[in-house]
Amino acid sequence: MTLRMKQTDIDSLLAFDHQHLWHPYASMDQPPPAYPVVAADGVFLELADGRRLIDGMSSWWSAIHGYNHPVLNQAAIAQLGQLSHVMFGGITHPAAVRLGEQLLAICPAGLNRIFYSDSGSVAVEVAIKMAFQFWLSQGVQRPKLLTVRSGYHGDTFAAMSVCDPVNGMHHLFRGVMAQHVFAEAPACRFDEAFEEHHIADLKSLLQQHAGDIAAVIIEPIVQGAGGMRFYAPGYLRRLRQLCDQYDVLLILDEIATGFGRSGTLFACEHADIAPDIMCIGKALTGGYLSLAATLCTDRVSDTICAGEAGVLMHGPTFMGNPLACAIACASIKLLLSQDWQGNIRRIETILRQQLAPARDMAGVFDVRVLGAIGVIEMDHEVAMVEIQRRFVEAGIWIRPFGKLVYIMPPYVISDEELITLSSTMVRIVSTV
Ligand code: PMP
Repeated sequence: MTLRMKQTDIDSLLAFDHQHLWHPYASMDQPPPAYPVVAADGVFLELADGRRLIDGMSSWWSAIHGYNHPVLNQAAIAQLGQLSHVMFGGITHPAAVRLGEQLLAICPAGLNRIFYSDSGSVAVEVAIKMAFQFWLSQGVQRPKLLTVRSGYHGDTFAAMSVCDPVNGMHHLFRGVMAQHVFAEAPACRFDEAFEEHHIADLKSLLQQHAGDIAAVIIEPIVQGAGGMRFYAPGYLRRLRQLCDQYDVLLILDEIATGFGRSGTLFACEHADIAPDIMCIGKALTGGYLSLAATLCTDRVSDTICAGEAGVLMHGPTFMGNPLACAIACASIKLLLSQDWQGNIRRIETILRQQLAPARDMAGVFDVRVLGAIGVIEMDHEVAMVEIQRRFVEAGIWIRPFGKLVYIMPPYVISDEELITLSSTMVRIVSTV
């Protein structure tokens, strides 16, 4: 690597960025600092001034194999020479078919029909549309969704309407966003025994509103950006039963959890259940390109297609993008070719050891680890800009939000790199 830039070039790059480029959840008026990254390799991000940071974020859950991976690079190059994009309307191509075959082989049983799209949020939009169309095509009006608090499903409007109302700032969009039904967040931690009272609130809302509810949507086991909470598999198993009992569809959002992150290939495997509709994205392409998919059962697709429209009314321009599909095929093959479960257990063990000391620190509310995810929850909001500056100075990349300082590193991280990443995180957290 070492693509070091001159300071004057860095300054002008940052000046343009600050003036013109919007960043996630940021002000244009008072933009927070943006660190210029010029290259990435393995678990390292390289800054324009030559500094190298150990990446704790996998670029928001996506870069599971790390950066600049020769196998994924080769898949991209090979596909580029053949077909980088073609419309999916009236056309198909080998990359989409190969990926579909792979997904059918690894996704929960029964999810036979695949709709490709270009981002996680759109995959959630499609899932919600499928659920509504499922009922509308039977002549039934079911205009509501049921979900739990502390969830996160994306930033487009339908997705946002089922995000946690507080974190998702629903008050900002009063009057323009669909109103859905929110139950309490799952109250039992991953390692706690599930008891019926943990789901009592959701059950009673389901009883009250069943005739109006098209689907329950939830992130399985790991509630990600809405609170980094891990809940018991028993909760999810019971939720599946309740959806069947009240004849409501179950949508699982595996966008963050898919492809091994929680220790199973898909998080719903912890509960040994399958949804009616499932969304995947993020790590699908190993973080190389934006690609997502919404999978559903024959029952869902047959019912939609037997309805008045006869079709699913959705069709993005970049649906089934061949370049993204080819990289996704390579990424899945690469994951399955290794002892990925043993590797996630290795990461989990180190995270447990390294984060444990934070438990007794002043200001720390909770420490939790599941699979390749480690979370320190503070009892106060952290000053994000300041703590991030300190992480970067110490050579690691972590982006906290609210009270949460958390890591989900690329699976290729070595023991030594992971110990540096997590012990540095604990050391800096101890001083805020
Ligand atoms: N669902 C979940 C569980 C997510 O974590 C995210 C992204 N953080 C999304 C949906 C939205 O995906 P995208 O940002 O690709 O639109």
